[in-house]
Amino acid sequence: MPKFYELSPEARRLELGDPDCLTRLAGQIGPETARHDTMSENVIGAWRLPLGIVPSLMVNGKPHKIAMATEEPSVVAAACRVSRLANACHGITAHVDTPVTAAQIMGVIPQDNARHAAQWIAQNAPTLLQTANQCDPRLCQAGGGAFDLGAHILDADADWPETFLVTKLLVHTSDAMGANAVNTMAEAIQAVLCQKLQGYTPGMAILTNDGIGRMVHAHLSIPCGIFEKYARHDGVDIATRIARASAFAHRSPERAVTHNKGIMNGVIAAALPLGQDTRALAAACYHEAHRSGTHKPLTAYRLDSLAQALECDIALPVTAGFVGGFKSDPAVSAAFQFDDISNYSELCALLAAVGLIQNLAALWALVTDGIQAGHMRLHARKTAITH
Ligand code: NAD
Repeated sequence: MPKFYELSPEARRLELGDPDCLTRLAGQIGPETARHDTMSENVIGAWRLPLGIVPSLMVNGKPHKIAMATEEPSVVAAACRVSRLANACHGITAHVDTPVTAAQIMGVIPQDNARHAAQWIAQNAPTLLQTANQCDPRLCQAGGGAFDLGAHILDADADWPETFLVTKLLVHTSDAMGANAVNTMAEAIQAVLCQKLQGYTPGMAILTNDGIGRMVHAHLSIPCGIFEKYARHDGVDIATRIARASAFAHRSPERAVTHNKGIMNGVIAAALPLGQDTRALAAACYHEAHRSGTHKPLTAYRLDSLAQALECDIALPVTAGFVGGFKSDPAVSAAFQFDDISNYSELCALLAAVGLIQNLAALWALVTDGIQAGHMRLHARKTAITH
């Protein structure tokens, strides 16, 4: 008898029984199923989310359509509302940092050898970097590659009695998200350390999802008068209320958590159709929010009283990829085409811009009509179908 994972999706369904439940859960078996079967394990079909569209958002002078996959009512409507306002203010400007991802190569080392081993790693960094780069000639040809490496010691403590030697590898990932590329390099270095360091026991070799090397800074300046065109309220008053809401999130970690969740409503909905690792994006963003030791908002809003403008900023780690395995999915490459994203920088700039407009939309609603007015209207439409 073949094992469950060795079966075809059709055969798995037969074994599971209850075809009606399986069709509702995973759709019909179709031409896409064989491809999905190569993307994950024990596949029996596919699971779908509604896909909504933001018709236009201007980022760095270029209009993008945005395909957004989400089950949450009002996310797409809110993004559309603020995209119109942002476009009326010449759109969003964004700066994307050169992408750097780090790996940690961890091993256990006798306390007495630790300092000597760290010195050996520092002295042999050029050779170790060469070992890493030999793993990925295509990344190097694309202008990326491993470029820095150092080691530090984590001393034994009350929780665990061993000394850890941690080698940190920095990789310029060029147009890639880089997780597999960096992990492959890290494992190659781990193999060398095992051979060369006396008493070294390998622990693990893997990237860190800390996105400090993947930051995107995006900005939108809204003249207060523009608010009046899009709302019945006084523009300076709305801008003041939004800046106050921003100050509240900076003072209150409990508020900042929800503030940042609103950012991720947009980022994850836009990133999903683009085949991105949304767990990596979320991990990096929440870590960034907590970098100071307490939870802080990833956006900041300031009323410029002289210019009578609301200055809106987001600083977001965007661990995204323009090239990679996910691009072989036709739906993903269609999303890149639809959103009109032609390079890595445009991808990251757009995801940060979506985070900013989504957050601004939420704050705008919260400080005026409240979030429930629009939310519950759309939510009622959803529940009307099911009940
Ligand atoms: P990748 O990002 O690791 O690498 C892409 C490869 O494309 C490079 O190694 C390089 O050889 C090649 N390439 C060709 N042209 C390039 C260019 N112009 N710039 C850069 N590289 C170029 O690709 P991947 O295998 O798709 O890995 C990413 C995925 O790994 C994520 O989406 C996620 O699903 C998965 N992953 C994530 C984690 C995590 O902790 N976040 C861990 C493991 C795997």
